[in-house]
Amino acid sequence: MTNAAAHDVTHHVPEPMLADYAAGRLGYSFSVAVAAHVSLCDECRARLAAHEAAGGAVLETLPPAPVSGDLMARVMARLDDPAAAPPAPPAPSGIFPGAVMAALKGQPPRWRKLGMGIRQSILHAGGDGSLRLLYIPPGRAVPDHGHGGQELTLVLQGAFHDETGRFGVGDIEVADESLEHTPIAEEGEPCICLAATDAPLRFSSLIPRVLQPIFRI
Ligand code: ZN
Ligand code: ZN
Repeated sequence: MTNAAAHDVTHHVPEPMLADYAAGRLGYSFSVAVAAHVSLCDECRARLAAHEAAGGAVLETLPPAPVSGDLMARVMARLDDPAAAPPAPPAPSGIFPGAVMAALKGQPPRWRKLGMGIRQSILHAGGDGSLRLLYIPPGRAVPDHGHGGQELTLVLQGAFHDETGRFGVGDIEVADESLEHTPIAEEGEPCICLAATDAPLRFSSLIPRVLQPIFRI
């Protein structure tokens, strides 16, 4: 059932976002990103199992006290109940978790050049945000940009770093309006990321701004 327990994940889905995911309150793009992270991260998988078993509403009404023995028992019973298990997700393929394979509809990514060796494959673009795969050659930077809303970036291959830290396979970065950053791929393998937004990015330089409508970033 676990497909990648060995990743040394250090950047996780924030608790409120995981609760929203468990309660079905996230939009499509964020849901795929969270599901993909969870499939790569033992810690978030365990936290999510507790959310799902207890139900978001139950958790929200609980006082901020230690989890009661009764709740724990119900969590464990639910985990043991095969009828309560969700339908099996699509199988992972290569570096792509099952949730990404579902977004790809089982097809390989259709890469489009973005310039400077960077490529993207759009999986979803709409008024509720976008979901794309990004391919960044080793040592290459994604143009400096800010965010009109939140952006989730999940590393699937290689690694990148920016002003906030280093992100390797399985790590998820949550950026919002307050962050202006320049992600740079590390040397070695090309960095392949899943990027989800709930609003368009805001580029600082003119050229990416001009290209933005064309590439639907
Ligand atoms: Zn995690
Ligand atoms: Zn960003």
